Amino acid sequence: TGNEPRPGNPRPRLTVVSGPSGVGKSSVVGALRALHPAVYFSVSVTTRRPRPGEVDGQHYHFVDKAEFDRLAATGQLLEHAEYAGNHYGTPRGPVEAALAAGRPAVLEIELQGARQVRVAMPEAQLVMLVPPSWETLVTRLVGRGTEDEQLIAKRLAVAKEELAAESEFDRVVVNSDVQAAARELLTWVLTESNEQ
Ligand code: 5GP
Repeated sequence: TGNEPRPGNPRPRLTVVSGPSGVGKSSVVGALRALHPAVYFSVSVTTRRPRPGEVDGQHYHFVDKAEFDRLAATGQLLEHAEYAGNHYGTPRGPVEAALAAGRPAVLEIELQGARQVRVAMPEAQLVMLVPPSWETLVTRLVGRGTEDEQLIAKRLAVAKEELAAESEFDRVVVNSDVQAAARELLTWVLTESNEQ
C-alpha cells in the first residue's frame, strides 16, 4: 500500500489498557509508570467526584458535566464514555503530542472507550488485563471498600461484560502479580508500530 512504516523509522505506539473494575488496572499501570518514566500516561477528564487522596490534574482532571460536554462537542476528546453513572474521556492533544515527540503513550480506559480508539486509531494496540479468576475479581472489588453495595453490583455486571470482550483485544495480560503484569505490559507498550 505504500503506507507501511519504513524499517529504521519506527513510530511509538498508543497502547490502550482495559479490563474490569477491580482487576488492578491502576496498580499495574502505576507499577508500569515506575518501570519506564519515558512513557506518557494520559490523564482523563471525568465528571466523577474525587475519591479521598485523588489529586486534580494528576489522577484525573475533575470537571462538571457542562465542561465535559464542551470538550466532547469541540472534538477535544479522543474517546469518551459513560461508566457507572459518570462520564470519562481522554484529552486528545496531549496524547498526540506525546506520540509526535516519540514517546509511547498509554491510556487506561474502559471497554466502550477502547472500542472507540480501535476505530479512531487502528494502529493502537489494545491490551486487556484480566484477573486470575472471577472469584479474585469479586474479592478485590468488595474488599476495596470505597463503594456502596449498589455500585459494586453495578460494577460487577459491567465487569462480566468487559471480560466477555476479550477476543476484541490484541493482548491479554493476567494480573496474578502486579510487578510481573507490569513488566509484561511494558514489553507491549514498547513494541513499535512497524513491528506488527
Ligand atoms: P474509576 O471511577 O474507578 O476511576 O474509573 C472507572 C472506569 O473508567 C475504569 O474502568 C477506568 O479505566 C475508566 N476510565 C478512566 N478514564 C477513562 C477515560 O478517559 N475514558 C474511558 N472510556 N474510560 C475511562
